[in-house]
Amino acid sequence: MKGKVYLVGAGPGDYKLITLKGLEAIREADVIVYDRLINEELLKEAKKNCEMVYVGKKSNQHTMKQEDINTLLVKEAREGKIVTRLKGGDPYVFGRGGEEGIVLYSNNIEFEVVPGITSSIGGLCYAGIPITHRDHASSFHVFTGHLKNDDEELEWDSMVKLNGTLVFLMGMSNLEKIVSRLIEYGKDPNTPVAIINWATTPNQYTITERLDQIYQLAQEKNIKPPSLIVIGDVVKCREQLNFFENKTLS
Ligand code: SAH
Repeated sequence: MKGKVYLVGAGPGDYKLITLKGLEAIREADVIVYDRLINEELLKEAKKNCEMVYVGKKSNQHTMKQEDINTLLVKEAREGKIVTRLKGGDPYVFGRGGEEGIVLYSNNIEFEVVPGITSSIGGLCYAGIPITHRDHASSFHVFTGHLKNDDEELEWDSMVKLNGTLVFLMGMSNLEKIVSRLIEYGKDPNTPVAIINWATTPNQYTITERLDQIYQLAQEKNIKPPSLIVIGDVVKCREQLNFFENKTLS
């Protein structure tokens, strides 16, 4: 029997936010290789004898190195297994899905990629923030707040000229720097910002503040990863569109 790998986006947290194709890949799998940010409820959908391999990592302590994950996917597929590689959000949005796919291709392993709802859009939605809105933002831009090398800089200069919504993933450890660079390069200190922690889960928690005060508030409220940082006028829509947190409260 020929093995195959599915690189699957599990969505941002709420387990119902996976695609039908993603769910099928979970049900079909002989092995599931999964990350920290996926909702473990999804694993209950697997076959009884499906093997589960956790390869999650926190930002500074790696449970399994990326090369070892790549090797594992290739090895399991070569043994003729259906391998489902479950990733939070969308596999190609800062998920290293591209790297894994290329390794599979180079090793002649059959694979399919199943897109997922990325936290960078769906997570905002659950906090009542539309990533675009005709009155507030005609584009959106998703950045990593955590570059490969610490001394590398994002393109602040061009970033502050954008009129669209700015979203940072993996940005919490650099929040102070992100905020001060944006202001330094000319972003209005009054720009609304939201930080959404554990978006789309029952623990979802959101704070909003002006750009020049958000860091202090995040410190006070002790907001940790995983969080989304959203900068732009669309944050104002939250007053009217916050269906999820209002529901949770009631
Ligand atoms: N592929 C994922 C992103 C992986 S990078 C996606 O498309 O969503 C991991 C970062 O995503 C985290 O550090 C955090 O910034 C963000 N993130 C993912 N899920 C999140 C969630 N439920 N709540 C808040 N942030 C989340």
